[in-house]
Amino acid sequence: MARMPGATWRPIAGNYTPGGQVEVRGVVIHIMAGTLAGTDAWFRNQRAQASSHFGTGKKGALYQWVDTKDRAWAQGAGNRSWISVENEGKGGDELTPEQLDLNAHILAWAHKVHGVPLQVTNDPNGRGLGHHGMGGAAWGNHPACPGPQIVAQKAEIVRRAKLLVTPPSWREKFVEKAPVLRLGAKGSHVKTAHRLLDARGYPVGPGVDDMTFGDPMERRVRQFQAAKGLEADGVIGERTWIALSGF
Ligand SMILES: [Zn+2]
Repeated sequence: MARMPGATWRPIAGNYTPGGQVEVRGVVIHIMAGTLAGTDAWFRNQRAQASSHFGTGKKGALYQWVDTKDRAWAQGAGNRSWISVENEGKGGDELTPEQLDLNAHILAWAHKVHGVPLQVTNDPNGRGLGHHGMGGAAWGNHPACPGPQIVAQKAEIVRRAKLLVTPPSWREKFVEKAPVLRLGAKGSHVKTAHRLLDARGYPVGPGVDDMTFGDPMERRVRQFQAAKGLEADGVIGERTWIALSGF
């Protein structure tokens, strides 16, 4: 049995093959051409004859409909060997930042649980992160799923998945060496913290000395901590460093 921690388990009564996953070569991404709620309802309809293992919403919801020991019905001949992910949106859309993260988490999880290599593939006989259209006629002939914009984002999903599976030893060493930073601190670690705040979407702003921990930075740190469910004390300690590092 393999259900992904953090995914909302939304079991369906049919539209899949119990025990039918023969192997897991990788993860195949799709576009719903619809909403998460609509897809959720459709998979519960016996007439659909369709399902997928996972589904993502544009704002960050993650559903799992089918256990990965079971075969979801998403991409014809590719079903028996690939885990499937349906993404909310329509043809021509890009994945949202939330969806990029969710797909990276699914790929990282598939890497740990099923040994999927963290690489892009465009080959139905390959391994890694694939997409529906690559399977051609045998996979139901859906050349436009999930569309060129999302196919171009596969490398970014792989990059994020690699960060997620960075060995803890590296993480611990980084945090061990990072000092506690508070208002008034100076130096290269402050500069690193500036960079990480920027990367997480909390830029301290232009015209600020990035070697100094000033008031604008403290405000940003508090906002970041609040958003991450951390104590918003404006001090960069171990837990804030870990969150800033994206782990
Ligand atoms: Zn598809």
